[in-house]
Amino acid sequence: MRYAETGYNLEIDLSRGNIERVETDPKLTKLHLGGLGTNTRILWDRVPPETEPFDPENLLIFSTGLLCGTPATGANRTIVSTISPQTLLMGYSMMGGFFAPELKYAGYDKIIFRGKSPKLVYIWINNDNVEIRDAAHLKGKGAVETAEIIKSELKEPNAQVAAIGLAGENRVFTASIEQGRSSASRLGVGAVMGDKRIKAIAVRGTKDINLARPEEYIKLCNEVLQYIKEREEKPVPGVMPILAGLGSPQEMKHVDEKWHTENFSWGNSRTRRKEFWTKEVEDKWTETQLNARKRLISCYNCPMKCGAIISIQGISTYMMKCFSKLTYTMAAFVDDLDFGFRIAQRATEYGVDGFSTPQIMAFGFELLDAGILTEKDFEGCPSDNEGRFYWLLDRIVRREGIGDVLADGTYWAAQKIGKGADAYAHNNIKKHEQLPLKLGMLNPVYFLMYSTGEKINITQIEGQFPQSPFPTMEEREEFVKDWVQVPDEKFKQYLLDWELRGERSNPYYPTVDMSVDIVDWQEMMHYIDDALGVCAGLSSFPLKPPYHIHNYPKLISSATGMDLDEAELKQIYKRNRTLLRAFNARRGLRRADEKPPEDHWKKRFPELEEKLLDAYYQFKGWDNDGVPTKESLQELELGFVAEDLEQRGIIKNG
Ligand code: SF4
Repeated sequence: MRYAETGYNLEIDLSRGNIERVETDPKLTKLHLGGLGTNTRILWDRVPPETEPFDPENLLIFSTGLLCGTPATGANRTIVSTISPQTLLMGYSMMGGFFAPELKYAGYDKIIFRGKSPKLVYIWINNDNVEIRDAAHLKGKGAVETAEIIKSELKEPNAQVAAIGLAGENRVFTASIEQGRSSASRLGVGAVMGDKRIKAIAVRGTKDINLARPEEYIKLCNEVLQYIKEREEKPVPGVMPILAGLGSPQEMKHVDEKWHTENFSWGNSRTRRKEFWTKEVEDKWTETQLNARKRLISCYNCPMKCGAIISIQGISTYMMKCFSKLTYTMAAFVDDLDFGFRIAQRATEYGVDGFSTPQIMAFGFELLDAGILTEKDFEGCPSDNEGRFYWLLDRIVRREGIGDVLADGTYWAAQKIGKGADAYAHNNIKKHEQLPLKLGMLNPVYFLMYSTGEKINITQIEGQFPQSPFPTMEEREEFVKDWVQVPDEKFKQYLLDWELRGERSNPYYPTVDMSVDIVDWQEMMHYIDDALGVCAGLSSFPLKPPYHIHNYPKLISSATGMDLDEAELKQIYKRNRTLLRAFNARRGLRRADEKPPEDHWKKRFPELEEKLLDAYYQFKGWDNDGVPTKESLQELELGFVAEDLEQRGIIKNG
């Protein structure tokens, strides 16, 4: 009997219309857990490095995490993996909501798509019955609208539907997969879904999941819930609101946007508006948000309520994604929050990434102001800021005129446009738009996370360690007192010694070695969460979360029956991290690609930055170019990866 996982994947060959239920190898669960870990292994085994994102050989995997659907709170993530059209590396994007548990209850750990359908289709998974259905009637429909039509025609209001909008159908590089209460938005996974001509996947499952030691597991799950309750009653003092509590940035709960609007950049990630947040703005924005927000909602089996149902007169009701309420508003320099709520509804139906798309639009208008693009490119575009953004969004998702060029994101658009446009695509890492944040002094921990993170999304790499030092020793001592999550006591000392100014402050403190330790801890928690399908909002993202390296082994062991201690779990993390790096190294990723945007910090320290990268690579068992060494791969039971890299000349001289 298999525990926690179903032991079966659904394999769908869209070119042939073939559907198979395939038993999985339990050895792979032992080596990689599930979710991101096994997705990476499947992509390594089956997708040769010559494969382009829109080749039929590219796979699109929808995976549950190992604990999804079990009573563990927040274990609801679907991990979508494929080759990203934007970075040309492995893209993995995650969504919460209800999709992954439903898929497990239908009897599958993953859906693996290969090939391309000759026509637009949707997939209907109803426990053991799986069909590929014609979706001609859904062409051009919005993502949320599509889900409603499918549920109604199937007469299955409880089906969970993941769908693409117009952006996905037209292979816009920032196309998302929308799923009612969540979305997989980053790295163009919706474009690959559209390329495979899958409009939607509907799933309904009513089976059970087996647990190896249910009584012990439920007890541990209850301890997690109890901790959440206590932690919510006691927010961490002295840090910004979104880190003080738990949950994936609870943007729809908070109305205080001083921190975001004054610290993040506006427009094409350039201008900070230091005095923006006045009493008048605060009152107006609070009123707008509270009027629009009908109800706070949660993902499956979670008490945190991070999302909100938004209802505004004249447009259909939708669920607002955490930070999207600000991204369009700030990119368009619109002082009215109502605009953000309205345009986000249209963007959700079109199915686009709310982090990248506003930046791409602001980039387009900046090129127009600079004379690199011309009025002819924007013929018919209204002159007001709001109208301009709606106009350009419509063109991008339809790939019309200049919208067709911008639909590939700022990096690729700049290559096509030429005339110095690349200087304006200034906020990318590995060809992908980052958060519009520009700061003063280099932070060594963030330098490493930005440079080397394969998730290509800083908010999903960071967490665990405070972003800046506490001003007083009393505050630090108070913080470390009940810091049970640290993997090692040394982290407490790192924090106690960290000062705002002087010798023990950024950029030279945390020291190079400490920075590597901190990044490794943060990465470890994210990689474990992404293999288990646990939301980062309850684990790797906030300070002092309920899940950590000390209780995870017990939870995994009692759920799956695989006896696992902390050292073994750390080894699995290392294996998954290294395999993902090897996959991308095989696709060409090297040290030269590992850098933050040039203007991310005003004060840069080239020598220190090189030392940080050297130390990080050495710690990970990678060579000076960021490629895993033969020895480290062998030690992680990845000898076959070493052989492949050696044969291709990527690992040299053994
Ligand atoms: S913490 Fe928030 S985003 Fe995460 S599972 Fe719970 S409700 Fe969803």
